[in-house]
Amino acid sequence: MPSGHEESESIESRRKRLARERQVSLRERRKINDENRHPDHTEQEINDRTNELERTDNGITRHELGRMNQTCIHYGAKFWMEEKNRNSSLASPAFSICCAHGKVCLAPLIVLPPYLLNLYTSSDSDAVSFRKNIRRYNNVLVCTSFGADINVIAGQGISDFRIHSQVYHRIGSLLPEDGLQPAFAQLYIYDTEHENANRHNVMPDLNNGILHNLLIMLDECNPYIRNFRRVRDLIQMNVPDEIFMVIHADRTRDS
Ligand SMILES: [Zn+2]
Repeated sequence: MPSGHEESESIESRRKRLARERQVSLRERRKINDENRHPDHTEQEINDRTNELERTDNGITRHELGRMNQTCIHYGAKFWMEEKNRNSSLASPAFSICCAHGKVCLAPLIVLPPYLLNLYTSSDSDAVSFRKNIRRYNNVLVCTSFGADINVIAGQGISDFRIHSQVYHRIGSLLPEDGLQPAFAQLYIYDTEHENANRHNVMPDLNNGILHNLLIMLDECNPYIRNFRRVRDLIQMNVPDEIFMVIHADRTRDS
C-alpha cells in the first residue's frame, strides 16, 4: 500500500505522525462543516475540498459518507446525504431511489413477534449475545441455503459476483439420505426429539435457551415451518403413502 513515507519510519514516529494527521483532518472537517452552512460556497466547491482532504488523510484514500441521517418523506427510508437526487440541494435534499417519490406503494412492515423484537432491541445479555451471533442463529435455523456458480472476475476493488435471471432455492429431500446428518429443513422434520442437539452439532457455541425460544417462536409464527411440522407428524403417524410437500410461489406478490 503506497504511503508516501520512508519505509525506515519507526513505529513510534509513525504513530505520532498518524495522530498529528488525524488532528489536522478533524480540524479540516469541522471547518468544512461550518462552511457548508455558508450560502456562498457551491456544492462542487465543498466536494472538492472534501476530496482533497480524503487524499491526504493518513496517506490512505478514504471516502467518508458521514451519518446516515436523511429520511425519505414518504416511507421513512434512511439515506446518506450523498444519495440525494442530483438536482436537489443540500439544504433541501430529495431522495427517490427507495419509492420514486411515493409512486411505489410499500406494504407496511410485518409486526415482529415480541420475543424477536426484544432480541433486536433490548440491552439484556441474551439480546446482546443474539445480535453478536445473529448470522449464526439464522444459518442454523434456515430451511434452505443459497448456492451459485461464481465466476471470479479478475481486477481491483471489492469482489462481486453476478446472477442472471431467476434465483431458485433447491430445498432437497424431506429426509436425509441414509447415514447423513439432517440439515436445513430436514432438521424440522427428522429426529426432532433431538432437534436442539442436532443444531448444536452444527453450531456448538450458540445459546441453548435462545435457540429453544426461537424454535418455539418459529413454530407459532412461520407458515412454512408449520408445514414442515405437519410432514413430521404424518411421518410419525406412519402414514403408508409416500409424502410430498409442494410449495407454490405466488409471483404476483413480493413475499
Ligand atoms: Zn421513499
